[in-house]
Amino acid sequence: MSDCFFCKIAKGEVPTNTVYEDDDFRVILDIAPANPGHCLIIPKKHSANIYETDDEVLAKAMVLAKKMAVKVKKATGCDGVNIMQNNEEAAGQTVFHFHMHIIPRYDGDKALSYKTMKQTDEEFAEMRQKITAL
Ligand code: AMP
Ligand code: ZN
Repeated sequence: MSDCFFCKIAKGEVPTNTVYEDDDFRVILDIAPANPGHCLIIPKKHSANIYETDDEVLAKAMVLAKKMAVKVKKATGCDGVNIMQNNEEAAGQTVFHFHMHIIPRYDGDKALSYKTMKQTDEEFAEMRQKITAL
């Protein structure tokens, strides 16, 4: 993907605040952090989203997410860490090269929030059947 900006970032062709790099990933500080220390785990191999990403890359990404979460917690002294990963515009994805967010959180901060809803037992049962049938 020669026109993918995160491919350029992953290859080191664009200046970033890189906090970790290995053969498969670059981890950078997000340019618009939810809190200071917000990192992005970016695979060097392009895929648009989780559906298209190799299982092997995903497995390594999750192990790296743990490593980075521990580092970010130690570096920031945060109270908690969110691991976030968006797929498609409806879910908030703005860069269409798979990446994972490591977000430091503090007691009472409102850095990430979503509204919840109530569902009936019937609605839960219908959804359970739909998903388990696939
Ligand atoms: P998403 O909305 O999940 O696709 O996340 C894309 C993230 O990339 C956002 O949090 C942006 O702030 C971040 N971002 C975009 N461009 C850059 C950049 N040049 N350097 C660091 N972070 C970036
Ligand atoms: Zn890419």
